[in-house]
Amino acid sequence: MNESARSNEKPCASSTESWARSSPAAPGTPLYLHIPFCQTLCPYCDFYSVLGAGRDSAALVEALLEDARRHAPRAPRSVYLGGGTPTFLPPADLARLLDGLQELTGFRSSAAEVSAECNPESLTPETARALVAGGVTRLSLGLQSLRDDILAFLGRPHNRAQALAAYAVARAAGPRSVGFDLIFAVPGLSQEAWAADLAEALALGPDHLSAYALTWEEGTALNARRGSPGHYPAPDDVELEQLWATRSLAACAGLAPYEVSNFARSGHECSHNINYWMNGDYIGLGPSAVSHLGARRWGQPRDLATWRTQLAGAPAQLSATQAAEATEARRVLGHSESAAAPGGAAAAEAPAPAWEERLAPGARLGESWWLGLRLTRGVDPGALRRSVGLPAAEDHCLPIARRLVADGLLEQRSSRLCLTDRGLPLADAVGREFLAP
Ligand code: SF4
Repeated sequence: MNESARSNEKPCASSTESWARSSPAAPGTPLYLHIPFCQTLCPYCDFYSVLGAGRDSAALVEALLEDARRHAPRAPRSVYLGGGTPTFLPPADLARLLDGLQELTGFRSSAAEVSAECNPESLTPETARALVAGGVTRLSLGLQSLRDDILAFLGRPHNRAQALAAYAVARAAGPRSVGFDLIFAVPGLSQEAWAADLAEALALGPDHLSAYALTWEEGTALNARRGSPGHYPAPDDVELEQLWATRSLAACAGLAPYEVSNFARSGHECSHNINYWMNGDYIGLGPSAVSHLGARRWGQPRDLATWRTQLAGAPAQLSATQAAEATEARRVLGHSESAAAPGGAAAAEAPAPAWEERLAPGARLGESWWLGLRLTRGVDPGALRRSVGLPAAEDHCLPIARRLVADGLLEQRSSRLCLTDRGLPLADAVGREFLAP
């Protein structure tokens, strides 16, 4: 099936009725699906994932489609298959997922961008073809490195040869965009080695690059090894040097920065992720997925069995761990309000979320600054304030922004405020200044 054929497809009437019964989201709302299966569990990862071997992929797909029937918006303008490892699913199950999603949402005629995360160890030509034939326009490869020693340190199940082969497979499938993720500031990765690794990867000719410094997240296996031989975070000056090398080499390869860690050829920026950084609305399906509509944010259970039990209609209790995670997520974001409301009459058939919060206008404004400053174009203070309905007199963010300008961390460009070169490496800390205490 080619692009023009897909663009003529419409959602069938019965599917639209099904959607209309329960989705709380407006037509067009971006849609995320979380596929939690992975071949191995990488020690640095803090996404929700489970070992996929022996799991029932077909049952997962049916559960995701049931979740979509209850929650997915009609005609989403972007779709993102993330994980976990979407390509852990066999091609036939991916095709079933995409066909079912089309029946429920009509995404093939509405979404300008449909992304799928792909891992080198599981991206076969059949898988790539199933994704593209099913409507995926953008393949994002989790390469992380082209060096076997770094891949081994990161606990990745693939090697350099598989990474290079996966890139060729992705290109051969013919999606509109192919990009990949790389990780720097890995212990033992010198500046010269990172520059060589990145240069070789960029020579492949990607449309998009995500390059992140290795993070040592609390609760991960990597962080538990912190301080043991070979497990020291890279010094700040090394991380900084590698960050600037990334920006320089990406620019030479024709990839412009549009976010702190993301670079693209013109027209290949990830609109789905830009919507996150703009604090826009979105619906997330699958275990651990988060949804956000206006002042309301809620999450699915971070546990496969609990999520499926809830979908099956039986009310599930949060475990102590899950409840603590939800509380911690709210604490990090600086919110104390929470509610257990099921989402109003429109969502009456849907199971209650694992956690939910309603954000006050000031909190929403602070988050919009925190996220929006990651974008190269920065934020428009007046537009952000209007988007949450706050009068100027109650805007607590402007005084903070003025202080950060005086400190040389932000600068004004036309009507927008952006990170300076000094502020860029401190993007997260600068952004958090705007979150409510
Ligand atoms: S493959 Fe990705 S999602 Fe799975 S454990 Fe590794 S980093 Fe996490």
